[in-house]
Amino acid sequence: MYLIVQPRRRDQVLQARGAPARKQMRERQVSGNPWQSVPRPLPVRVRYFRHETPLSYELRLASANHLSKNHLRSGSGLSPNERGFASRYPEKYIRYLELLGDLDGRVIDNHANPLVERPMCPRCSRDEEVRVRDPLSGYVCTKHAYWLRDGEVAHFQPTPEVIDAELRLRSLLADGRENILGTARYRLAEELALVSLTEEQLATRAEQLKTSLLPICLYPETVSFVDLLSQEHFLRAISLDYAVKSNRYRAIESLEFPGVSAQGRPRLFSRLKTFSDNLHW
Ligand SMILES: [Zn+2]
Repeated sequence: MYLIVQPRRRDQVLQARGAPARKQMRERQVSGNPWQSVPRPLPVRVRYFRHETPLSYELRLASANHLSKNHLRSGSGLSPNERGFASRYPEKYIRYLELLGDLDGRVIDNHANPLVERPMCPRCSRDEEVRVRDPLSGYVCTKHAYWLRDGEVAHFQPTPEVIDAELRLRSLLADGRENILGTARYRLAEELALVSLTEEQLATRAEQLKTSLLPICLYPETVSFVDLLSQEHFLRAISLDYAVKSNRYRAIESLEFPGVSAQGRPRLFSRLKTFSDNLHW
């Protein structure tokens, strides 16, 4: 006796495994509802920070409710494998988060950048180990003169330069729509600060601040370069046509850096030229 086994169609197999059938998925997409039921607010709510990205909010909301992002999505009737949901349906993704987080109205900003998580000032948190995601502060607690970056938490003797740098960075963060902390732009600014200062200047700075932690000593210059790296005239100078390298180099050398010493200038120009050579043309 022969047993005839009928091969099952792919969507039947998928359905048997509990995954939504391709047809159902397509219907959901066509009807414009990427989840099967309307998401209900989660038990633990979290505050939405201004300039926070939807993904950052989603991750915090999931973690506050002891869920992974995928569990959160699947529990809300959304297939975790539904790729590119957030980018394909930006409006619906935001609506989904607002429903889950029980947020009022349209508060989530779809054009912001991720928040950087970092340690909170030990004096502000009364020696508790707390991590914060404050989109509008740099790396310094101006009240207690603490430097706050992962692996680098340190107290320093405050000077007007460092405090002013922090306040300037905060105003840049409040003005712009992106958080530049921890980005390649910030790292480049820090590198430019390092080459623009002489050994003596750094030694004096370290003595004033009573710390040998380099990022604090570089902070005033770093913040100036962070600001410069977003300015039109500077971007134009470093990104002139690759074919006319000499023009680009001349434009770089014509940039004014009032705070940079005569010894620091050649090193700074050389770093900027290398950077501009490595840009994609
Ligand atoms: Zn503090």
